[in-house]
Amino acid sequence: MSFLNYISKLLIIFLFIFSQCLLSQNNSSVKPKLVVGIVVDQMRNDYIYRYWNRFGEGGFKRLINDGFYFKNAHYNYIPTYTGPGHSSIYTGATPRTHAIIANDWHIKSTTISNYCVSDTGVKSIGCTNKNGKMSPKNQLSSTIGDELKISTNQMGKVFSIAIKDRSAILPAGHAANGAFWFDEITGNFISSSWYIKELPSWVNAFNNKNFPKVYLTKGWQTLYPISSYSNSLADNNNYEASPVKKEAITFPYNYKDFIEKNDFSIIKSNPYGNTITKDLAISCLINESLGKDNIPDLLCISFSSPDYIGHYYGPRSIEAEDIYLRLDKDIEDLLNTLDEQVGKNNYTIFLTADHGGADVPNHLIDYKIPAGYIKEKYLVTEIKKFLQRSFGDSSLFENNSNEQIFLDARKINQLNLKTAEVESKLADFLITINGISEAFTSSTLKTQCFYKNDYPTLLQNGYNHKLSGNVCYIYNPAWMDYSEKGTTHGAGYNYDTHVPIIFYGNGIKKGNYFQYVSITQIAPTICELLQINQTNGCISDPLNEFFISK
Ligand code: ZN
Ligand code: ZN
Ligand code: ZN
Repeated sequence: MSFLNYISKLLIIFLFIFSQCLLSQNNSSVKPKLVVGIVVDQMRNDYIYRYWNRFGEGGFKRLINDGFYFKNAHYNYIPTYTGPGHSSIYTGATPRTHAIIANDWHIKSTTISNYCVSDTGVKSIGCTNKNGKMSPKNQLSSTIGDELKISTNQMGKVFSIAIKDRSAILPAGHAANGAFWFDEITGNFISSSWYIKELPSWVNAFNNKNFPKVYLTKGWQTLYPISSYSNSLADNNNYEASPVKKEAITFPYNYKDFIEKNDFSIIKSNPYGNTITKDLAISCLINESLGKDNIPDLLCISFSSPDYIGHYYGPRSIEAEDIYLRLDKDIEDLLNTLDEQVGKNNYTIFLTADHGGADVPNHLIDYKIPAGYIKEKYLVTEIKKFLQRSFGDSSLFENNSNEQIFLDARKINQLNLKTAEVESKLADFLITINGISEAFTSSTLKTQCFYKNDYPTLLQNGYNHKLSGNVCYIYNPAWMDYSEKGTTHGAGYNYDTHVPIIFYGNGIKKGNYFQYVSITQIAPTICELLQINQTNGCISDPLNEFFISK
């Protein structure tokens, strides 16, 4: 080879490498064609650790090994419920601002309770019952999807799917093309006239296949031999309740009675609830051509069934382990379909949970770990007795819900009392009750400043000045107002606030991070990836600097 020839070859190789560098740099600034948000209802972060060796390579492991995993992500407000959780993920705001302060909340000066997504002004689409009379009207700040819609002149498509209505509606936001949820009366996926006039043909086609019946006919056996579930307690144990009174709490589950009665509600508390959610999401992806052009689309998927399983059987049950091993397969199927339909690297995924879940208090008590139960009836009786003793009138009490006490404002006026004084004395009284550790008055929460992540700060972030009550109280760790089998969530303690946050795909590099990040950092991160306005009620920082090669 002549020297000149050698030099020109070297030059060609150099130019090739240089152009590839430019290309890859260019690629990393290309926006994803599709963002898929996955919320797993009640997924504690420790499930990733506990079930890791049991997961396949193509589901959770693929997201974590090839994506970016925030291992110390937390909810930054109280209460940690499904409605507020889904709102906070997609608005990047907390209940203080987005106003979804609970699943159901008391309306001041009435005896009425409001469900977070109920809306009498809209019609059910896809059924004749009231289960479709729902909308996001109570959610007061914009979602990722809303900002995408406005910045693309409506051309970016936004769809949302879940078993639970609130888990489909709140993520979808206000300007979405559609949100679909499961109607347990008909066994079909339905929607609301807020979004559409009639169900799209692909939803009708899906409903016509009657998947709930097809799946429930198979019953529920463990995916692997039951002896291999050594991460969990015995199948039959003292801490489990059944979704159906007096029914067994052991495998194999069979649903003959339900099928005979055409009752498909049981699919909610069963792994097939996840599977039909995934199947409908795939149908949406294909039929709505999501991720097919350069205008980004958003698909929100929420897997509701793990929450029902957690509530009934607890986080240490074989039922919980099995539903995650099966969800891992559903996620693998979803990822493979996204590769085929949208193309590897053309889509970005985030996966998180709407809250965690507590261990069953009785289980902890058996380990001599402090835990306990508070009964609402007892608490309300004590509060009324106290108000009678101190102010001569027990009817100052209006309502107790979501660990907040509402006082009757008219009564306070009539009796010439000062609100701040009644609140303050009531707060002092509440902490004398066994199982209640702290209580804060509305005036404290409206005016004081506390440390970041401290419990009163979490209360403050969850405190809506218009909607919330007069006194907020906090239980001791591992105390709850719940039945003595199964468990719940709602607190500001680690077991309820600590959830996984995983990003994967276009624009994301591999890695993990152990320092604190909060749930409200997801929305601004996705908005930055999409190069659109950050959601309007968000005051948290985006996480994108983790994904940029330095
Ligand atoms: Zn939930
Ligand atoms: Zn069991
Ligand atoms: Zn729940």
